[in-house]
Amino acid sequence: MKEKLMPVILVIIILAALGFIVKQAIPKKPVYETILVDVKAKKMFKQELPAQGEITYPIKSPYSGEKTAYPVYKCTKCGEIFAYVPYIPKSPEDEAAINPDLVIPKCPKCGSIEITIPEIPEGKKEIDVNQSEIPIVDMNKQVSK
Ligand SMILES: [Zn+2]
Repeated sequence: MKEKLMPVILVIIILAALGFIVKQAIPKKPVYETILVDVKAKKMFKQELPAQGEITYPIKSPYSGEKTAYPVYKCTKCGEIFAYVPYIPKSPEDEAAINPDLVIPKCPKCGSIEITIPEIPEGKKEIDVNQSEIPIVDMNKQVSK
């Protein structure tokens, strides 16, 4: 009886192994984890985004259900948390794209360029932002100078 079952068990093992190999071979969509801020719900949260392709901010926030999620920065001088819209080059030769004034955001409160990406503690997915308002620094609106 046992001898008759062996081939069946072997086939199952082989199939399971094949399934595992195929699963490993399928490339996962490349994603990266970033920190966004919902300026309406006043929450910073971890979000996985596709590594490829242009993302136009704001994107839909899981908290407000609206397009109110932006990349977030924190001023290391005054502690201000602010949303940031990266500059989108108008063409591949757009010289503004390498203009440091358009690449490096300034703190909207104190003007400092000493900014950092705030951290969300390990094990947490979101934290509240205790600010009456979260300013939005849109680099695309700083072009006309
Ligand atoms: Zn500041």
